This record gives sequence, structure tokens and C-alpha cells, in this order.
Amino acid sequence: KNAAPKQSTPKPQQARATAPKFADLPGFKEIGLQKAAAELLNIDNPFFRAHEGRAGATTQIDGQTYLNFSSYDYLGLNGHPKVQAAAKAAVDHYGISASASRVVAGERVIHTELEERIAHLHGVDSSIAFVSGHATNVSTIGQLMQPDDLIVHDSYIHNSIVTGAKLSGAVRQSFQHNDFDALESILELRAHKHQRTLIVVEGVYSMDGDYPDLPRLIEIKKKFGAWLMVDEAHSIGVLGKTGRGIAEHFQVDARDVDIWMGTFSKTLAGCGGYIAGCHNLIEYLKFTASGFVFSVGIAPPIAAAVCQAIRTMRDEPSRVEAAQENGRYFLQQAQAAGLDTGVSQGCAVVPMMIGDSLKATVLSDRLLKRGLNVLPIIHPAVPEKSARLRFFITSEHTKDQIDLAIKLIKEELRSYENEPVSLQQLMS
Ligand code: PMP
Repeated sequence: KNAAPKQSTPKPQQARATAPKFADLPGFKEIGLQKAAAELLNIDNPFFRAHEGRAGATTQIDGQTYLNFSSYDYLGLNGHPKVQAAAKAAVDHYGISASASRVVAGERVIHTELEERIAHLHGVDSSIAFVSGHATNVSTIGQLMQPDDLIVHDSYIHNSIVTGAKLSGAVRQSFQHNDFDALESILELRAHKHQRTLIVVEGVYSMDGDYPDLPRLIEIKKKFGAWLMVDEAHSIGVLGKTGRGIAEHFQVDARDVDIWMGTFSKTLAGCGGYIAGCHNLIEYLKFTASGFVFSVGIAPPIAAAVCQAIRTMRDEPSRVEAAQENGRYFLQQAQAAGLDTGVSQGCAVVPMMIGDSLKATVLSDRLLKRGLNVLPIIHPAVPEKSARLRFFITSEHTKDQIDLAIKLIKEELRSYENEPVSLQQLMS
């Protein structure tokens, strides 16, 4: 008779003599190295620059005025007197905070108005507002999807979607940017092995300024019985005749997309995010999405400002037209000047593809010194060798400002190429 295998007694864990150091965390040293490199190059850290007032087409930094291409305020509504007045009136009426979760402590009337306006904006039944756009994606995807499900997303998708997918435990696979044949191949191979499938794309890609072929995506999602989710963070106010996003742009039925996601932090001049869709989806999230149930309700002044921003976008369609016209003009002029704008279609975002992170950072600093504020996007926000200067173009920019920006970039690129900067050289 075989003896039962001996159970090895687990060794008592050796207690650490001291707590771990935060400085030993992965990635901590890289932050220090970046700072040291910036000092060596004698450039200002481009991140966390303190703007002294509202950042629109121009902005004040350290008492100086700069031409600004670093704001998501695509329609200039953050500075609109009616939007500001709505926020001020809500402060007088409600105070500042919702003071607790809406589930627990009750909501404010303005929350219902906001969610009705969002649902109407998208042309669907209902919506739910969260206090952060990032938390909206994390909580929604994290809640809806399960370990036996499949999430397939564009490779350029925002971090919040990837984080939500990881939280859900579902199998996650990306397809090459806007390559829908690749998406179909993945679905053919895998979809039948999973309980549910979710396809996730953006309405306008925040790093690249292009958009997906929504009608094709709707065909694919129907063919495979999948859910389709579209993140409209950068497409509300930017796509569609009246700024209602990618469904309006393609003239498709909004109900063919199962999950609409958006943020209040860009065109809508607030802070927070939302999901819009059918009644059952929204009802489910209202009782289960942790970022809603266990988090404070959106601040009433922000809810009121967003309601007014939606009304103003409808009442002043020239803002949407100007944003679209400026995006197109910027792209055209940049391309005519021989600049590499990647895959941008001129939808509010136009990247200047630079390649090297050091070069992008140096160029951003030199442009600042010439009165132009534009931020470098470097690894890990984008893949290695895809560093860029990212321009956000809004309804408030003038053609002269756009022309000047293109002229300055061209000049600075030329002067850099004549005399490239190398960290090795500086250190030797
Ligand atoms: N989705 C996309 C596509 C985004 O670009 C962002 C942030 N810029 C978010 C979600 C998160 O939104 P928020 O900044 O409002 O939290």
C-alpha cells in the first residue's frame, strides 16, 4: 500500500527587517534618469507645467503668454460665459460636492438631467455618469466582462480600457490599428470559444487623430454576435455635423453600438465620464459598477456645466464647424510643409511624428522658448520610436496661429536636424 505523500510543512516566512523602499519600485529609477537627462540638456520638465489661468488657444505660464496646442477644450466651452454661469449657479444651489455615493445618500436633480441629456446626445435610452473618465472604462469593462469572456481591442486603445480588461480577467487580444481584417481573423479563431465577446475602439484616437470605419465594425459585431463599445472621449464635439460623434459622422443607428463611452473632461468642459446605451445595461451598471456604487456622485457644479455645454454645442453649431475646419487646415498645412503627421485625419489631434523621445522632448522645449506650448508624447505613452509632438486643435485657434505654429515647427526641426542632440555626447 502506498503511503500518503508527506505534506511538507510550509517554512515560516522570514519577516523583513525593514519595510520595502518606494525608491526600489520598478520604474522609479527611470523617472530619476529622465529628470537627470532634462537637467543635462538644460531643458524644463515639459510635464506638470503650471498654467496661471484657463488654457485656450493661448495660455499664461510664468507670467508669459504662449500659443497653446495642449488643451482638450475642443470647442472652447470651458471659457464660455453660459457654461461658467451654470456652474456658479449650481454652487449657490447645491454647494460643491454630492458628498456621498448616489446609491447610498441619494442623488441631486441635476444628475438626472445630465444623464438624460447624455442619452439624448447619443440617441440611446439611458446613461450613467461617473466621477472620472478613466474609472468609467475600468469599472464598466471590469464589471461586464468575466474570465471566460474575450475582449478584442484596437492596439492604439487608451490605457483605461486595457486596465478594465485586465481587471475583468477576460482573455484580451489587440488587433493592429484600424485593421478590421485582422479583427475578423481573431474573432474567427477565438470568439466561439468564449461566453461573450467585446470589441472596443475609440471614436477618434487620442494620440493620432484618426477614426475607425464604424459601419464595418457594426457588420463585424453582428456577424460574430459580439458587443461593440466605442470610447468617444475625443470625438464628441469633433465628429458629426453637430458634434454628436462618430454615429452622426457615419449616419448609423446609434443603437447598433452596444456601449457608448465618453468623458466630460474634453469638449464638455467638466470632469468625469459616462456610459450610454440601452436601459438594461445602464440599470445593471448603476447597481454593480464599483466606480459608481462605491464612489461619490459627480459634483453638481460640474454636472450643471456639462448640461450647459451640451446645450451650447447644439445652439452654437459654428463652434463644431470651426473645430473641424481648423483640424483640416492644420493637417493640410502641415502636410504641405512636408511634416510627418502619421495617420491623422485632422480630427482635433494632429501628431508630428518625431521618432526619438529625446528629440521630441528637446523640440518641445525649443518651441516653448519660441512661444509655442505643445507637449512631447514619449515612451511608454506611445511605442518606442513613435515619439511625437501632439497638437490639439480647437475651434478657438485662428488660421494665423496655425500658420505660425507650422512655421515654427519647420524651423526648429530643420535646426535640430542640422545639429542633433545626443545624450552620449553631452555626458562625455
Ligand atoms: N478614454 C480616452 C480615449 C482618453 O483619451 C481618456 C483621457 N484622456 C480617457 C478615456 C479618460 O478620461 P478622463 O481624463 O476624463 O478620466
